[in-house]
Amino acid sequence: MKVFLAEYSGFCFGVKRAIKIAFQTAKRGHGPVYTYGSLIHNPQAVQELEKKGVKPIRSLSDIHKGTVIIRSHGVPPKIMSEAKSRGITVVDATCPFVRKAQELAFSLGSQGYQVVVVGEADHPEVKGILGHAGDRAVVLDYRDNDPRLRITSRKIGVIAQTTLLLDKFQSVISTLLEIATELKIYNTICSATTLRQESTLNLAEEVDLMIVLGGKNSANTSRLAELCRSVGKRTYHIETPKELDPAWFRNSHKLGITAGASTP
Ligand code: SF4
Repeated sequence: MKVFLAEYSGFCFGVKRAIKIAFQTAKRGHGPVYTYGSLIHNPQAVQELEKKGVKPIRSLSDIHKGTVIIRSHGVPPKIMSEAKSRGITVVDATCPFVRKAQELAFSLGSQGYQVVVVGEADHPEVKGILGHAGDRAVVLDYRDNDPRLRITSRKIGVIAQTTLLLDKFQSVISTLLEIATELKIYNTICSATTLRQESTLNLAEEVDLMIVLGGKNSANTSRLAELCRSVGKRTYHIETPKELDPAWFRNSHKLGITAGASTP
């Protein structure tokens, strides 16, 4: 069986940067070091960081002192203010692409647009962007049956979760076109995501089956698996080699492998 690797796969710029910042912060060793949530959506990589003394917390109320690293997903501004007011040191590893989306959301909200963030409502990056976008901002999950129900304004500004599939973004935008009199769109899907999605799709079309490596809780990795399945390819999303089943490879001649942006 021949094995092919997607041209672009694995750690992206933003995740590499966040991990580097986390290790540098741990090395400096000024008091306990925490990450606000898991630094990346990859349980195995998070365990490695824990061995270096960098522990994830779920909320600032879990700690009294020390340093908290903001992961690449970013946070709403109220988290930064709370840390500051409680004397907790903040090291900000928000990915610059996510930071840009936050700034654009803030700018749209300030200009009177109702901001629509297209993405997964429960994803930390989306919650962070929403926090910058003003009181009327809403999240439209591309899986919503009728996104129109959530919109109260006809002046709408749109931002995408950085790991969104382009066709899902386009589909929500065409719905918004039916109700908006003024529509301002920022395509904030990041280039690392686009490259991984395109090269995964190209590879999936050439092989018999696809293995997608990465955290089951990673949005961008799950999307790669979703893409492979969308072209009818038999696809397995795994986190570790232990999950591989030899039966998957019977009668297969070409195997494609890709990995999410949070996969080492
Ligand atoms: S996927 Fe893109 S936005 Fe997200 S951390 Fe990586 S480079 Fe940044």
